[in-house]
Amino acid sequence: MYLLESRIEDLLGPSRSHGVNRMWKCPWHDDSTASLSVNVEEGMFYCFGCGKKGNYDTLCKQFGETPDEEYKWERAKRSVEQGYSQPPDFSELVARDKGQQQVGVGSLLQDFIDERGIGRHVPEAFGLYVTHGPRIAFPYTDVDGHVNGIKYRDRQGHKTAEPGSSFHKPFGIGHAVGRPDVFIFEGESDTLLGYTLLGGKDGNGICGTSGVGVSDAQWIANGLLLLFARRIFLLYDADEAGDKCAETAMRVLGSDKCVRLRPVRGKDFTDHIQAGGTVREMLQ
Ligand SMILES: [Zn+2]
Repeated sequence: MYLLESRIEDLLGPSRSHGVNRMWKCPWHDDSTASLSVNVEEGMFYCFGCGKKGNYDTLCKQFGETPDEEYKWERAKRSVEQGYSQPPDFSELVARDKGQQQVGVGSLLQDFIDERGIGRHVPEAFGLYVTHGPRIAFPYTDVDGHVNGIKYRDRQGHKTAEPGSSFHKPFGIGHAVGRPDVFIFEGESDTLLGYTLLGGKDGNGICGTSGVGVSDAQWIANGLLLLFARRIFLLYDADEAGDKCAETAMRVLGSDKCVRLRPVRGKDFTDHIQAGGTVREMLQ
């Protein structure tokens, strides 16, 4: 049996309610009734009194505790199981989206790639398209060609609704699996520029994690997908969040396998390249 339920009781005391979602007094506000609803299987909670929400990590932090290794391992295992057994498939949504493509918005995608120096062959390789809005769609396609998630970007560059955003296989993973050298980028547009400059050649694999919010569990899952990679290059932004994400990857995947490439001529990979930088010079 999984012990999260008793861990939560250790922190919050016994609950008077039963079942998966139980109520406790909220530790974030002066709570006279039990306003905090906690899912004892997932560790997710929400307070109906003060609106505080979070997960088991957040609870531990509030009580000055550290989530234990057993919990982390359990969560990693779940994430991997979820990723392999029931990946969502949005292929039909993509087909519907494409059916609604607007006439005369083709320049949106063209401008997006031209401004960033992304190659003209790249949108097709990553299945990008323009849909109603107009928005550019970035499908997250797995090795089997299933679309596990879609991110959208409107004309202003704002990201909008993200079906499958809770699902975390890297962007463009099909371009990385089985390759000896894999370059992992922070954002979608850096990934696309990376593919333009490094992809397809010399067995280079290219993918992106769409941000820095990558948990240990997701790195374990990524590590399994990239099991045959000899080297993994981490091209995260030159800021605290980027450094932290690269550190986590190195800790989980092994520092012998990982190489941090840090932009030196600007914050992200695109800035660095646009300022005349090279990949070699990012090696520290
Ligand atoms: Zn509260």
